[in-house]
Amino acid sequence: MELREIKGIGPKRLELFAALHIVTTEDLLRFYPKEYLDYTQISEIRNLHEGDRATVRVRVVSDPSVFYYKGKEIVSVRVSDGTGRLTLRWLNQPYRLNQFHIGDTFFAYGTVNQKRGTVLYNPQINRAGGGIVPVYATVKGLTQTVIRDALGVIIKDAAPSDLLPENWREQFRLIGLHDALREIHFPTSAESLQAARRRLSFEDAFLYFTAVGSVKSDRKRRNGFAFQRPVPGAFADTLPFMLTEAQQNVMREIETDMCSDVPMNRLIQGDVGSGKTVVAEYALYIAAQNGKQGVLLAPTELLAEQHFNTLRKRFPDAVLYTGSMKKTQKDAALAGIESGDASVIIGTHALLSDRVRFSDLGLVVTDEQHRFGVMQRAKIESKGIRPDVLVMSATPIPRTLALLIYADLDLSVIDALPPGRKPVTTHFVPASKRRDLYRHISACAGKGERAFVVCPLIEPTEGFERLSLRELYADICAMMPNVRVGTLHGQMQEAEKDAAMHAFRTGETPVLVSTTVVEVGVDVPEATSMVIEGADHFGLATLHQLRGRVGRGNLESHCYLLANKLNDHAKQRIETLIGTNDGFLIAQKDFEMRGSGDLFGVRQSGEAELNGFLSGCTVETIRDASEAAKEVLAVPSLRNNALIEEARRRFRLLDGIAHN
Ligand code: ADP
Ligand code: MG
Repeated sequence: MELREIKGIGPKRLELFAALHIVTTEDLLRFYPKEYLDYTQISEIRNLHEGDRATVRVRVVSDPSVFYYKGKEIVSVRVSDGTGRLTLRWLNQPYRLNQFHIGDTFFAYGTVNQKRGTVLYNPQINRAGGGIVPVYATVKGLTQTVIRDALGVIIKDAAPSDLLPENWREQFRLIGLHDALREIHFPTSAESLQAARRRLSFEDAFLYFTAVGSVKSDRKRRNGFAFQRPVPGAFADTLPFMLTEAQQNVMREIETDMCSDVPMNRLIQGDVGSGKTVVAEYALYIAAQNGKQGVLLAPTELLAEQHFNTLRKRFPDAVLYTGSMKKTQKDAALAGIESGDASVIIGTHALLSDRVRFSDLGLVVTDEQHRFGVMQRAKIESKGIRPDVLVMSATPIPRTLALLIYADLDLSVIDALPPGRKPVTTHFVPASKRRDLYRHISACAGKGERAFVVCPLIEPTEGFERLSLRELYADICAMMPNVRVGTLHGQMQEAEKDAAMHAFRTGETPVLVSTTVVEVGVDVPEATSMVIEGADHFGLATLHQLRGRVGRGNLESHCYLLANKLNDHAKQRIETLIGTNDGFLIAQKDFEMRGSGDLFGVRQSGEAELNGFLSGCTVETIRDASEAAKEVLAVPSLRNNALIEEARRRFRLLDGIAHN
């Protein structure tokens, strides 16, 4: 069956589906919901509290009305559930006016707002009655109902071919593909939905491990460039500090890899502040000593520039290449890269562009790997002839898991911090103590220390009361009249960002209000306070990274987490952070807390960040899937070869590497 044969799907809707990368019925079947609304858990209106995400079962008690406020058209409907009344309110959705009549009953789901009476803003409405209802990430003009109805037609006589061998069902406790797809779109219970997720995430993870594993064995066979060993000590002697033992061990591993003719494929894991940059610098040094070019890929322009400023001290011919540089600067950089005048090239993903051609690329280092997809890594690697590859991960993950997830890489761990670091103390700051906190920050600024303030958003946004950079900046300036406060966010011009960062580094603006652009890599040793506003809006890994921006010098440092209302998950995250500074432990907790779920969201975004998506599986699923992949890779047979081929096709993975 084809999409256009389905009743109600004409050219217009086909186009909208195409915008979601859905062209065939198979695509639609694999278009998993981004989340589910659970209408099996019903709250009573009288028990609702501000900030709850709740489902209520209600009856309309008076006809909808409309009013205008600050240029917005607002439709209100009064409803009751017998225990109390509340108002449903939609902004700029005028058609809602005609959707409700006195006596209608339905389920409504949304976040409770009790500023003026009890209100649900832009609630989801479900008239179908109960159950677990999928929600799809759709585009304007394509409603949930259209998607659901189309799926209802397709699922009936779909005959998806199940890749996984029959006998795995029992071995790994998996349900069949058709059942899984039906449950993922039309769940009958929480348990069966769970089984469907497990089955589908197992399949993804299995194919991923198979693809990666097959590429890895290819790669081990090929001959890379064997670098000459540098003079012992020549590098370390130039450093202003003693390398830690952990750093030295990892550097030896890198040296051994680079000086062998099997291309290096190594992941460096280390907690924030463990000193990964200098290790990368060493790899670049070996490449440069051998007359090869080395590239360092950073996830943000801010970080690329910071690395550039550090590295050009050692490599005077280093060049920077980022998307927002002026054309003349870019052209000059490109010329240096192509002629070979530049031995070390530092930049962002702009370096992936086809315009960038290297003269003799021997080493690729990617910093803070989780920001780069596997495909992007492959793209830059394909610009050299089997270059050595070093990946630096900022997000520590438990070792057993790392071995599975980064299946295509060898693993090194920097498991100690440089000596003399004082651990960062973490505090939860309730709203009532907020003023006191900023008074304290103001005093620290007076002593020459620096403070970061991080907020979740740039612009004011409905549902995030007073958490945007614009609002907080004004607020903070008012609370600290004697302190110069800077701002920094991703939408600023490059030159503005530079200036803001410079002013912060030098202490001209000792307080910097920013978004999470400072999350990765930023290194300012004088910074002693990290204030995180709306901390409940950030995940554990991000919070830990942000905290890692302080405690880099030898002064006592503090991290302050602010939040108005904590749900259980946020409370758990904050308690975890207060309890430990150990990134590996935090990573383990994070993984346990999040469990499965992410996988489905990422898959449909098209650009599957594979390493990221695996973090959505349970540990058990990953382990099983990896075991299954190993079996398939180890035993050549017709069916296994077909599975490997399908795996590589499905992920079109690492093609760039596989062919050079
Ligand atoms: P990360 O691992 O988070 O990328 P960095 O490489 O940015 O950490 O290092 C953090 C800070 O520690 C930098 O200022 C760096 O110069 C310093 N540093 C690195 N190694 C050592 C060491 N062995 N002794 C003292 N300071 C070090
Ligand atoms: Mg770093």
